[in-house]
Amino acid sequence: MKILIVEDERGLREALIKSLTDEGYMAEGAEDGEIGLDMIETGVYDLVLLDIMLPKMSGFEVLSKVRAKKTDVPIILLTARTQLDDKITGMDKGADDYLTKPFEMEELFARIRMVSRRAHKVSVDNTLSVGNLMLNVQTYELSCSDNIKTVRLGTKEFQLLEYMMHNAGIVLSREQITEKIWGFDSEAEYNNVDVYISFVRKKIKFVGANVTIMSVRNVGYALNGEKL
Ligand code: CA
Repeated sequence: MKILIVEDERGLREALIKSLTDEGYMAEGAEDGEIGLDMIETGVYDLVLLDIMLPKMSGFEVLSKVRAKKTDVPIILLTARTQLDDKITGMDKGADDYLTKPFEMEELFARIRMVSRRAHKVSVDNTLSVGNLMLNVQTYELSCSDNIKTVRLGTKEFQLLEYMMHNAGIVLSREQITEKIWGFDSEAEYNNVDVYISFVRKKIKFVGANVTIMSVRNVGYALNGEKL
């Protein structure tokens, strides 16, 4: 899961990136509202931590612009202010949750888990499902509800399949997948995607699920399940 932190206070931004990375998330930062909005609009983030008091464009403005485009990426607002007004304004503008600074990292992790579970319909036992394919987002274990075989995915395999499960039935380009899993600045080649797709396909087949990764010629891949 890839998280964007829009926070102008450098020390806090870097501390958040480090804590989230240590916790197993991919995390990137933006230092003002304009950069944050541009990054959110790339569509590669699964969740956004958005400060309210930001240079160039406030967190509220960013939130309004994102929601005006019908983008439903989960957003947790961060603010130093404690006024109830801010909380109500934020929720009205479409924030998913709200955290007042300073906060404990454990509190933040709990909110992230709750918001992303709600947004991605992950069940209480941390399982993401498409068709009869089940992926445990905490243990990276892949299984099939009609079978007993399970297999553990590597980190990149997990990130790839999680991304495809969140976007089941939608064609994802090799470019989108590369940016999402390896990052904008990565030197990963597009054929990395093909290699990892083949690993994941083998594991889906191994657990005996009715879900397949379809190749879409010259474009990319889409995950399809019987129930889609
Ligand atoms: Ca700030």
